[in-house]
Amino acid sequence: MMSDFAENPPAMLGEFDFIRTYLDRKTAADGLILGIGDDAAVIRPRAGHDLCFSSDMLLAGRHFFCDTAPEDLAHKIVAVNASDMAAMGAQPRWVLLSAALPELEENWLRRFCGSLFARLDHYGAVLVGGDTTRGNLVFNLTIVGEVPSGQGLRRSSAQVGDDIWVSGRIGSAAAALQHLSGRLTLPESLLEPCLDALLRPEARIALGRALLPVAHAAQDVSDGLAQDMRHILDASAVGAEINVCAIPNILAALPDEQRLPLVLCGGDDYELLFTAAPQRRGEVCAAAGTAATPVRRIGRITDTGYLKLTDSQGCELRYDTRGYDHFA
Ligand code: ADP
Ligand code: MG
Repeated sequence: MMSDFAENPPAMLGEFDFIRTYLDRKTAADGLILGIGDDAAVIRPRAGHDLCFSSDMLLAGRHFFCDTAPEDLAHKIVAVNASDMAAMGAQPRWVLLSAALPELEENWLRRFCGSLFARLDHYGAVLVGGDTTRGNLVFNLTIVGEVPSGQGLRRSSAQVGDDIWVSGRIGSAAAALQHLSGRLTLPESLLEPCLDALLRPEARIALGRALLPVAHAAQDVSDGLAQDMRHILDASAVGAEINVCAIPNILAALPDEQRLPLVLCGGDDYELLFTAAPQRRGEVCAAAGTAATPVRRIGRITDTGYLKLTDSQGCELRYDTRGYDHFA
């Protein structure tokens, strides 16, 4: 016996309607020869530029709570990918979005896509293709950016004697995550700014680009400042000394034993961690001014081969600073 539903199913959105209606904006963009709708997109980089590629996945239940608003999900997936471009000093240009969706629910999709395109516009990037399949909610965004040939910022270029700098405020997103998972109760005044950092991060594109002629090494802070710093140290075969008290944060209201792990190991910050010669402090500050992004000097690169954390008196802090590892 057939149910009423099977006899009169509601108009369902199919995969190709979804692509046509929600994703294919027929965008005419500089360098986009062929966009959504064919077997592959065709792009043409500007002369004198290298292409930077990066991919990031977001899984429901692992990288975001299942009830996260669709606007925030789209905001975040664009930001985390754009942040990798920022860390290279690249300008985001083109993205591919692969999505597994349990269902094509129009209201949800409208909200998700509205935010997706708003954030892509914000960073100057266009959606040129992707893949859509049915499954548990997963997004994978691949982003392609442009950087003047040979100038992309790398993790391996830190030099002994360099200053270490970081942008923005560190630890807020991790504080919000701890609050939401019930492991910490944030004071009322911190809740809003911390949730904003967690849900709606801003990739530091303008800063990355402005730092191209100034910075030596750079990377974005996604897995905890200490761990990400070690990536630069390993790649550059150098050490570092960081004054923990200099790391910019808005968590002064929390006791040390709560604040320090958030600031050193929290992750999800999407700020830029970079090094530059001490003679270029003025230029670093000018780049930060151009990008309207605050930066703070937090330490220096040494020849010790390891990361030394110090307090305001210069005394060494012994601290387990392993950041997030999906397989640990
Ligand atoms: P194929 O069969 O070659 O994989 P599809 O039928 O999956 O192609 O996709 C048709 C077109 O729609 C392609 O241009 C593809 O890039 C685009 N597309 C599919 N899913 C997405 C998505 N989630 N975001 C952007 N473009 C998409
Ligand atoms: Mg496909």
